Amino acid sequence: MNIDPAKWYPGQVVGLHRWTNALYSLRVQAEVEPFEAGQFGRLGLVLDGELVTRPYSFVNAPSERPLDFYFIVVPEGKLTPKLAALQPGDTVWVARKPSGFFTLSQVPVARFLWLLATGTALGPFLSILKTELPWQRFEKIVLVHGVRACAELTYQETIARFQRVHANQFQFFASVTREPCLEALPIRIPRAIESGLLEERADLPLDPKDSQVMICGNPEMVKATVALLQNRGFRENARKSPGQITTERYW
Ligand SMILES: Cc1cc2nc3c(=O)[nH]c(=O)nc-3n(C[C@H](O)[C@H](O)[C@H](O)COP(=O)(O)OP(=O)(O)OC[C@H]3O[C@@H](n4cnc5c(N)ncnc54)[C@H](O)[C@@H]3O)c2cc1C
Repeated sequence: MNIDPAKWYPGQVVGLHRWTNALYSLRVQAEVEPFEAGQFGRLGLVLDGELVTRPYSFVNAPSERPLDFYFIVVPEGKLTPKLAALQPGDTVWVARKPSGFFTLSQVPVARFLWLLATGTALGPFLSILKTELPWQRFEKIVLVHGVRACAELTYQETIARFQRVHANQFQFFASVTREPCLEALPIRIPRAIESGLLEERADLPLDPKDSQVMICGNPEMVKATVALLQNRGFRENARKSPGQITTERYW
């Protein structure tokens, strides 16, 4: 089958880390064009004679290699069960051109940055936080990771490093909904905002005067959170009319 070498690079799998039965990090050596933290690439495999590709956010910072992609296996999905079966040395096609607008260059000036993710949508925030820019631009940064079970709280070492290096500037909260989990908020992200619990724990006001909010992941969480924030006077960011909410939906 013909794959356009100008568009696709034959990446080499250098590692596949299995966090749980469904959650994996795929590390790939590939040549991609420069990208901005928060953007996504595309991964592809030839399946039944056809190149099947899907978008995946970069977890690595733009300067880091190998590329790091964090994905969940969708049991009935076309691509993800095959990605989870890759072995070091296998080829995975990687789009040479990254894309996307879920980046800090789209986010207006503010004092506080709130980063709200469900599941694998933690990835773009880790890429952003691995760069210098957010730490230079914002007084305080709050990262919230919403998952169902404690084992799904992945990349804890990376997050702990942010906590160590930026102790006075950074806070992390987990929201774990299906089982009790140490200090995690026991409710979904929208509920944690609505009830005031997130602001209380962060000891920071979530108001449009001071805050920018980036939201990524499950479309239901994105929709519910945007609606709640709009009730508080937040507006979605658009090129011509800057607001305080920047979103990316994964499906
Ligand atoms: C901009 C963008 C960036 C993305 N980045 C990531 C990423 O970093 N990591 C990642 O895991 N996925 C990411 N996705 C989703 C990814 O592109 C695929 O849709 C997903 O991996 C399923 O592919 P598939 O071929 O196995 O399933 P398909 O056969 O394409 O089935 C699609 C269905 O899978 C479900 N689904 C898709 N993504 C998820 C998910 N993350 N969690 C639960 N259910 C899901 C939905 O029901 C969707 O309708 C991103 C999507 C977009 C639009």
